[in-house]
Amino acid sequence: MTAPIGSDILDDLDQFRAEVRDWLEANCPQSQRQPISPEEQYWGGRRGTFPSDDARDWYQRMRDKGWLAPEWPVVHGGAGLFQRHGKVIKDEMKRINARTPLYGLGIWMLGPALLEFGNEQQQRQHLSAIVNAEVRWAQGYSEPGAGSDLASLQCKAEDKGDHFLVNGSKLWTTNADKCDWIFCLVRTDPEAKKQEGISFLLIDMDDPGITTTSIELISGESEFCQTFFDNVRVPKENLVGELNKGWSVAKALLVHERKLMAELGTEPPRKIMSPNEAAHRYLEFEDGRITDAVLRDQLADYNMQMHAIALTHFRGFEEKTSGVQSAAPVVMKYLGTEAEKTKCELLLAIMGSQGLGWEGEGFDQEELDTLRWWAFSKSMTIAGGTSEVQLNVIAKSVLGLPQAPRGN
Ligand SMILES: Cc1cc2nc3c(=O)[nH]c(=O)nc-3n(C[C@H](O)[C@H](O)[C@H](O)COP(=O)(O)OP(=O)(O)OC[C@H]3O[C@@H](n4cnc5c(N)ncnc54)[C@H](O)[C@@H]3O)c2cc1C
Repeated sequence: MTAPIGSDILDDLDQFRAEVRDWLEANCPQSQRQPISPEEQYWGGRRGTFPSDDARDWYQRMRDKGWLAPEWPVVHGGAGLFQRHGKVIKDEMKRINARTPLYGLGIWMLGPALLEFGNEQQQRQHLSAIVNAEVRWAQGYSEPGAGSDLASLQCKAEDKGDHFLVNGSKLWTTNADKCDWIFCLVRTDPEAKKQEGISFLLIDMDDPGITTTSIELISGESEFCQTFFDNVRVPKENLVGELNKGWSVAKALLVHERKLMAELGTEPPRKIMSPNEAAHRYLEFEDGRITDAVLRDQLADYNMQMHAIALTHFRGFEEKTSGVQSAAPVVMKYLGTEAEKTKCELLLAIMGSQGLGWEGEGFDQEELDTLRWWAFSKSMTIAGGTSEVQLNVIAKSVLGLPQAPRGN
């Protein structure tokens, strides 16, 4: 009897999973197997410091194994693995609640884009530096007049022979004041149609002419900045892809950003209870059923939705690994971030007055963290493209619906 097609891949994956499990067991310190607070996240970069010796050991072991970016080529600090192996590592880390050893827009977003669009010199210069945590990257996409309508951006880069001269500003640049480099969308041809006059530039934040100002938020804390470029000279070799073809790089990078956003809720900083756990902690039960019929209904709805999302996620992964065109990645950002918002609303409804604590006595840490995560969850359906814009994308690229004429 012949083995079913693909069984060799499954055998290989089973064996790989066992190896990953053993390695993680031996190398992931116990302190790195619990939810992480924002203060403990290690972002690397020139100013980056490890929050603890265990965090440093964990990062270094994962880096040396190439598992910070398992699918990147070995020469650039990855492990040269297939995507399915990368997923096994991710799954096994999740199984033991292993912390992400290195956070960063470099490793999540810019690196994959450079592997696709960067030239050899750019890949050599930037990819290992990202894995080695030498550089922390910021994202310079949004501008005061260009968010959802990103292609309207006005920050301009003029060709001055051996360099570009950049002038303008970027808005909502997360942690720009702590970052070393920024990847930026700039207008290089003001005469061309919107998308066709944009280029993708890599800019050192230490270059003269760059300043950042922090934007205060209602919570008092803020990671948002506005970043100003005043006659900044950027070497020509920092152009990624072709001149005026930056829109393709931008879109590819956004796919990675949206994938990340879709998964954000699966690893919230700090321990956030699940709605099921919260129900057992705060609600009354009778004969094994929640007595409050409305919350019972909402909880059942939420659990069914999460199950459907998990299946869609799995389907997307299977389609991708077997080379089938999949619509799943396009819908995951919308589904994942909206589900996280729904979860947070449900948690607060279940927790009642215990869900209203911002600080102070009368609330335990998990309750305080839940309200803060609820506030943060609102931003997930905005960052990386709002839900409304995601629906437009789904309508156009998945459902093939006609587009409203511009100006309507
Ligand atoms: C937590 C967070 C971190 C961020 N970090 C960064 C960063 O590091 N770098 C960066 O460049 N940007 C960053 N952003 C900015 C983010 O990309 C923008 O906020 C987002 O693209 C929306 O743009 P906007 O804020 O200008 O809103 P607008 O585009 O002005 O939208 C306002 C409202 O109008 C709706 N709308 C707009 N156009 C349409 C349409 N065609 N159809 C239907 N509805 C529409 C939107 O859905 C939204 O509700 C971040 C945002 C957040 C929340």
